This record gives sequence, C-alpha cells and structure tokens, in this order.
Amino acid sequence: MHGAGDVRIETVPDAAINDSTDALIRVTHACICGSDLWPYALMQASDPARVMGHEAIGVVEDVGADVQTLVRGDLVVMPFAFSDGTCIFCGEGLQTSCLHGGFFGNPEVAGAQAEAVRVPQADGTLVKLPVREDDALMPSLLTLSDVMGTGHHAAVTARVREGGTVAVVGDGAVGLCGVVAAKRLGAEQIVIMGRHADRTTLARELGATDVVSERGEEAVERVRGLTGGLGVSSVLECVGTEQSIATAVAIARPGGAIGRVGVPHYDAIPSAQPTFYGNVTISGGPAPVRAYIEELLPDVLEGRLDPGRVFDRVIGLDDVPEGYRAMNDRESIKVLVTP
Ligand SMILES: [Zn+2]
Repeated sequence: MHGAGDVRIETVPDAAINDSTDALIRVTHACICGSDLWPYALMQASDPARVMGHEAIGVVEDVGADVQTLVRGDLVVMPFAFSDGTCIFCGEGLQTSCLHGGFFGNPEVAGAQAEAVRVPQADGTLVKLPVREDDALMPSLLTLSDVMGTGHHAAVTARVREGGTVAVVGDGAVGLCGVVAAKRLGAEQIVIMGRHADRTTLARELGATDVVSERGEEAVERVRGLTGGLGVSSVLECVGTEQSIATAVAIARPGGAIGRVGVPHYDAIPSAQPTFYGNVTISGGPAPVRAYIEELLPDVLEGRLDPGRVFDRVIGLDDVPEGYRAMNDRESIKVLVTP
C-alpha cells in the first residue's frame, strides 16, 4: 500500500529468515481485513509503503536455528500479532502485549498479502493445523488469524453469558464473528446493528435474533424497545468510530459491559457519568487471538463453528487491489486471497 486508495502488486525482496527465532512461511491463504480499510482511506502518500496483511495460513518453508517446534512442511495458522509465548503477558494469555511481540503488515514487519512472509517468534506465534492445505475448512480456519478470535474477544470482554442479552455494533466480518461467538457462549438474545441487508441476513443465519438498521438515537431507542427498556448486558463494539462507541455506551444496561474491538478512531470514550452511575464496564482491545486459537480450533475442526461464511469472494494475489476496492465499497464482506 502506497497511500490511500493506492494498492499495487509489486515484486519485492524475498521474505527470508532474519533472526534465529524466525520461520519463513509460504502463504497458501490470506485475506483483507476491515482494519486494512483504515489506511486504505487515510494513509498519506508520504508514509513509507507497507506490505499489508496480518492474517494467513501457510506452509513452513524454513526455520531459524533456535526454532524448536516447527519443521519444514508444517501447515500453520498465523495470529495477527507475533509473540514469544514465554513472557509474563503471554503467560497471562495477553499475547498482543508480548514484551517481544509486534504486529504484521507495517514498515518493520512485512505482511501476509504476499507469496511468503517472515514470522518472528515462530515457536510462540504459529499454531500447527492437523489438516491439509486444500481442506474445505480452510476459510473457517483462516478466521482464527483474526476476525473469529477478535469477535470472540469482544464477546469475552463484554462478558457474554448463558442466557444473556447482547448487541453487536457493526455488521462487518468481526461483527458477524461476534454473533457467532455470542451464540457459542450461550446468549439468548443477539441484536445485530448494521445497515447492509446482505450482512444482517447472514448475521441472522449465524445466530442473531434481531436486526437494528437505524443509527444514532433511533438505534438506541430500537435496542431499548427490544430489551424492555433496559438495554443489553453485553455490547460488542466492532467498528471503532465516534458514533459506534457512543451507541455502545448508550445501549449498555446498568451492570453491563462493553467489549471494544474496533480500532478506536476517536479520542475519548463518551458518557463518563452515565457509565459511572450504571456501573458499566468498558473493556476490550486488540484480541489475543493466539490464546483463543486453541479454544476455538476444536469447534472449527469438528464443524460446530463455521465463521468462514464471512468470506464472500476468493481472489488471487494480482486481484488484491480490486479486493480492497470491493470491500471498501461494501460490495464484499471479506475477501479471501489465495497467492
Ligand atoms: Zn510474550
């Protein structure tokens, strides 16, 4: 990505082992993320170009001398953040705060919308998959890189419980995975808030019980109307705009919790006094998807979860610029890339 709206497929120096803890992965499956659309809208042409992409499944081609757990030929899924698996925060299941970790798809660590990617801290980061690279489960397994784990994190930090009432703000792939996660955790009422009919229809198929397509104050009134005037116990905030966080805090009931997973593009969380007097917990952040892969993987392998349904287009590497356009124009929910 060279700037806003400017994505090109270029020949760059080959990914290679730099550090003894690296692995080199041949990417079999990657995808475009809703969060990639932020730089697609806002990146300055003066910023350094970035190899984008932080979600992938691939085959290990090479490992550094200190990599213990992986060998050439292993099929692995890559979380959107790398982590050593050994520091205090990794031990607490918060790998996105790893003391030796970081993120893919930036000027320092190249991304996975590519033929190959260097994975730092390979032992801590990568998870082996017990299937072949042509398995029909690949789309669902790929969501464990980010969107399914992120939707799950929204649900966990919003304290979704058996029988609970949930609202999901945002009908993108993360919001849809939030619906999947809320249903998996036993929520009884799941309100999807979004304006795109194709997405909210899919949300219903995935477990949403109600659709609210209004915005702002009207949306708040609709959610109150659906919950006996109380608001919901759990809000999954999956957008990250000023309006979406304002809606999230307005629909949380007293004692409720908000799980924020939309990268915030606002400066302050609103409604300090109402959330204070309502004892509303505001939580969330970048999902430690590495911690969640082990929890969610059996459900995907055994067919209980099908988050791969968020993919509605499959393209090759050369069509990635068109994939960004399609997602940006809301023609596509999420684009799978097969380099
Ligand atoms: Zn760590």
